[in-house]
This record gives sequence, C-alpha cells and structure tokens, in this order.
Amino acid sequence: MHPETLAIRGQMDRTDYREHSPAMYLTSSFTFPNAELMADTFAGLNDDIIYSRYNNPSVDEFISKVCQMEGVEDGFATASGMAAVFASMAALLRSGDHVLASRAVFGSTHQILTQIFPKWGISHTYVDPDDIDNWEQAIQPNTKMLVLESPSNPGLALVDLEKAGQLCKKHGLIFNIDNCFATPVIQTPNDYGADLIVHSATKWMDGQGRVLGGIVVGKTEFIEPIRFFCRHTGPAMSPFNAWLLSKSLETLAVRMERHCSNALRLAQFLEQHPEVAKTIYPFLPSHPQHELALKQMKMGGGIVTIEVKGGLEQGRAFLNAVKMCSLSSNLGDTRSIVTHPASTTHSKLSEAERVAVGINPGTVRISVGLEYIDDIIADIDQALLSSAQH
Ligand SMILES: *Cc1c(COP(=O)(O)O)cnc(C)c1O
Repeated sequence: MHPETLAIRGQMDRTDYREHSPAMYLTSSFTFPNAELMADTFAGLNDDIIYSRYNNPSVDEFISKVCQMEGVEDGFATASGMAAVFASMAALLRSGDHVLASRAVFGSTHQILTQIFPKWGISHTYVDPDDIDNWEQAIQPNTKMLVLESPSNPGLALVDLEKAGQLCKKHGLIFNIDNCFATPVIQTPNDYGADLIVHSATKWMDGQGRVLGGIVVGKTEFIEPIRFFCRHTGPAMSPFNAWLLSKSLETLAVRMERHCSNALRLAQFLEQHPEVAKTIYPFLPSHPQHELALKQMKMGGGIVTIEVKGGLEQGRAFLNAVKMCSLSSNLGDTRSIVTHPASTTHSKLSEAERVAVGINPGTVRISVGLEYIDDIIADIDQALLSSAQH
C-alpha cells in the first residue's frame, strides 16, 4: 500500500469494543496478571508494555506510521522536536567527537552545537548548505556525524541529499537530517541513505497548532542506542499527544498538497510585487537551486520567504499591517503566519551571522496556511502596500 494509505489504515489493533477510531491509552503504567509474567517482561523475555516512559500503544502507533511514511525500520517519539534532535545526537556522540553541520540549522539546534556540546567536549564545524562540493575539506579524523536540514529555515536553502548520502558513506559518518520542513510527503531522505530522520511533529505533522511533539526514526542500529538514551533520560511523548498526532498523519498528505499549492500561488504573486525585493520558494524557477528542488522534492513546501524593499522598518510595519495572518513564531498551521526573523527569532545574532544564514533586515517568513488562497494573497498584498507608506 502507498504511504498515504498506511498513514490512514496503519492503526493499532482494535479492543473488544471494536472502536473505529483508535483508542487513547492515557495511562502511565500497565498491569500484569501474575508475578512470573511481570518478571519475564522485566527480564526482556517478551515485548509486553511496562511503563509509558518506555513505550505506550498510542505512542507506538504514531511511531509505526511515521516509520512507514519515511520507509524506515524503527523510531522513538519525544515530547518535542528539540528532544528528538538532542537525543539523535547526544545518544551517539561522545567526548572528542566532531560534528559536521549545515550552517542553516534550527535555532535551538544551533544552541546545542555551540553552547551545550562544547561543555562535553563535542565540537562542530559549520558549512554552507548550498556548497556541498566543498564539505569534504571540513571532515576531520574524529568527525562522526553530519547534521543538516533541507529546506532550511527561513532561507529555504537546499542541501543536495544524494551528495550528502555519498559523502557520509565515503567517510563513515552518521547521516542525521531534520526533515521537518519537507515532511515525508515531500521528501524521504532514506532514499539517499539517511541513517536518522528527525521531525518536530509540532509543525506540519500536527498541522493545527495544538501540541508539541517530536520523533526520530531510522536504522535500528542507531535507533537502539537512542531508545536506551530516551528511556532512561525521560523525554517521552505524552499518549494524548501521540493519539492526536497519529490522527493528524491521516490528513498530512492532503494538507501538504494544499499548503504547497497555496504557497506556490502566493510565491508567484509576490515575485511580481512592487514592494518585494526578493521572493524565495524552491519551486519558483528563480530559486538558485530550482533544479535540485525538482529532483529531490515532490512539492515546494509550505513556507515562502520574502524580502521587503524597505528593510527592517518595513518588515516591522508589514507585521503590524496584516489583518488576517497571525503574528506567531510557529509554522505549519492551518492558519497563515508571518514572522520577521531579524527583530524576533534571530534578533540575538549579529547582522553578519544573520546574513550567513540568509536573513536580511527585510526578510519576512510566511507559513502559508489552508485559508482560501485569494484571501491570503489579499491580506499580504494590502499589508505590503500599507507598510510601504511608513
Ligand atoms: C520547530 C522546529 C524544531 C523544534 O521543534 P519543537 O517541537 O519546537 O521542539 C526543530 N527543527 C525544525 C526545523 C523546526 O522547525
């Protein structure tokens, strides 16, 4: 069956009540009929469920669906995307190891690499996402893992996943990709040899701005130590969130189709707009890596990044001028959201650091929602025009 079908039909066994929608196992622990079975379970002689920090039927259903959609063997679900990002690195790295990382990684991933890992003797080198032909030079004898995102946030730079896979194979690196922006509907990094695929389920997977969640899936050889790490450090996903996220996966493919068609229409409109200096969207022919986007992505994604002509001032004024779109730091919601990275999420970086990750003073990130496209365009158009007068 196709991944879209598996996401809908791949649910856990029904209980004796024969419920149609899956039951939610909101329980911290599970019982045993006798001492002998309990002892056997603790000894690892069977797979019975003990405690929800280890596993839970609702969480297992979510994990197995994401594994099927990504085409991989195994996974562990966490309370947030960052818990998954952290576990995917911390469980496998040790003091003295080096990480090769794309410069354009999520803000908190950057904090882990630059503020937390150095305390434990784990170093990193940043490389530019669109410069993969020169990444090899940054590999050291102690390089253990490659960490990247594609497309990146908010610059929408792509990493050539085929080349990344070849580089990891040649040098024996663990290929760890945050696939949150693309979702498995748009790209499945396992096709290129990814060992670990991480998601913030908070974004497109939930898609309705309700709960936090994360997941890391991939090859059993790497998931095993991650599962051990998570079971004993405790970032488990709540069964309630897992139940809700598992339901959300049933509609992920159709939602992404509409997010992407809305985003393409909006990008085409903005590219012609007199107040917009630059429009970035992977499926616009003007994107510098458009060919690569067509090769490795089925659709262009739900994020459009623009640069308004009037820089910082107009960026701020634009946010104040939108009427329908929300001002929020989240993305991947049914509701369109606008953010101005230079004055909010990336305000603590220096201007040079911002430019290095594709953020200029007038950069505005638009997470394109599921509203009727003409209404999205109308709101953004009026906000651009009115912000120009300030
Ligand atoms: C939001 C996000 C994260 C972090 O996820 P949380 O669920 O907020 O912890 C990680 N990576 C990317 C690309 C994200 O967009």
